[in-house]
Order: sequence, then structure tokens, then C-alpha cells
Amino acid sequence: MEIPQHLIDYGPWSISKAGMIEKCSQQFFYKHVNKYKELVTFEESRVGVAVHKALEFTLDPNFLSKDSHDVRVKKAFVFVKDQSELTSDEEEQLDTFFDQVTRFTKRMYANHVRQRVHPSNVMIEKKLGVTKNFTRAGFYEDRVIKLRDDPETQPLFRGVIDYAYITGDNDMVIIDHKSGRERELSYYSTQFKAYCVLGLVNFPQIRRFKTAINFTATDKLLPNEIISAEMVRSEYFPWLVEYLTKSCEGLLMPPKTTRSGLCNWCAYKPICPEFGGTGRVDTESN
Ligand code: SF4
Repeated sequence: MEIPQHLIDYGPWSISKAGMIEKCSQQFFYKHVNKYKELVTFEESRVGVAVHKALEFTLDPNFLSKDSHDVRVKKAFVFVKDQSELTSDEEEQLDTFFDQVTRFTKRMYANHVRQRVHPSNVMIEKKLGVTKNFTRAGFYEDRVIKLRDDPETQPLFRGVIDYAYITGDNDMVIIDHKSGRERELSYYSTQFKAYCVLGLVNFPQIRRFKTAINFTATDKLLPNEIISAEMVRSEYFPWLVEYLTKSCEGLLMPPKTTRSGLCNWCAYKPICPEFGGTGRVDTESN
């Protein structure tokens, strides 16, 4: 597959980075070309982040592995509260997720046993990368190698998978935790296709992919249809190249502002000409 040079030059890509240039190329240029520091910070829901962490601790087979499941969940919540500096109101909100985290993680542990999952095949917050040749890459760009002008080993695309495991039958289960409002599964199809590509390149022994979203607020585990490795190779690999090529068309033109509802979440709104800004950041402060 031919990869356009501008994709290589501006890589490595992620779904969110490609989405940014697709929605507003000016925002992309501020962030990734001009490398301006973000001028506004948007705090993720601290409670959502804390729920994520509680799930991470509890799903990690190495976390207090000798304790009973209930004790591990309780201790995970205590650790998260110790680390997160939540207000007492936020801690109370976090506690409302206790039953969901207990139920979900118990179910996953039962799956690990039933599906013969070796503890070393459980992945939490797994960082994966793929080169332009669809071979395994590190998550981080190797700047030394890049200086030697050898893009063969650099990640073209990368992503972080919340939770995954490989079964004894070499199926890969990939689950994304979402603490926000529930949406249709189709809304996340790009993300899951990309995860399957990353999964297959990094674990070529995989036969099938089972992906799902764990909606923590509504306690629903919504599965996508099962996808074969062959389908990932024959359809998703070329799809990823097409997706990146199309999303990144803005790189071939001068940066352009595109007003949308996303402007309310843009870290560069204070300098954006659409909102009366100069398009430049004071270099002293950047
Ligand atoms: S404020 Fe809106 S139009 Fe301006 S750079 Fe950000 S996303 Fe683009």
C-alpha cells in the first residue's frame, strides 16, 4: 500500500490526531506544526478518570492477586481515592460505581478462567504502534533513528487500548471503558477498526477479534460483531490508509479554520481569528 509522504512526515497518527485535522486543520497546525502550548485546559471528568483507574487496578492480574475479588475492588477504590485528590462529593460519586466495577471485573475474571487466559496475556492501557509497512512498531517515535532518515521502523499509527486479553484459542478481546453518556456502537467503529489493526500487527497469532464497550455509567457491555484476522488484514489494513489519507487532506492546503461545536473544546480558541484572535501566541509565553 502506497502511503502518501505527508502522512509519514506528520506521523505518528492516532484516531484523535487524524480527527483533529479532519474537523479543523487550523487547530491541527496550532498544535502539531506550530507546537503551541494549549492555551485552555479542559479537565476530563475527574470521577470518570478515577473509575477508569479503579477498573485498571482491579483488572490487573498482578494487583493484590492473593486477595479475594471483593477485597481487591475495595482496595482499588482506596488506592484511587488516595491518588486522585477527589473532593468528598467526587468520592461519593466514585462510590456509586463500586457495584458496576465489582460486577464487570468479576465477569472478566470468570472469562479469563473459562477462556484459558494466561495472566501475561492480560493487557491494561496497552500502547501499540504500527509502521507504514504494517509491521510492529514501538509506541514512541525513535528520534535517533528518524534523524538517520530511516522511517521503516517508525510508528505511522498508534493507539492505547484500555483493556485487552488473548484467550487460549488465540482470540483477542478488546474492551474500551466509557464513563460518559451511552452512544450507538457505530459511533466508535473507527476506533475499533484501528484497534483490530494494532492488535493483529502486534499479535499476528490472533485468529479473531471480539471488541466491546463497557459503559460504566449504565453498566452495559455492548459487543461488536466478531471479526476474523483475515478480514482485518484484507479490509481494515487498506481502510486505515484510506482513512488517514482522507482525514489528512488538509495537510496539502494552507491551514483553514472550521467553526463547529468543537470550538467550545478547542485549546486555541483565545487566538483563533474566528473569535477575534490574532492567530499567534506570544512567543514569550509559549
Ligand atoms: S476555535 Fe474552532 S475554528 Fe478556531 S482553531 Fe479551534 S476548532 Fe478551529
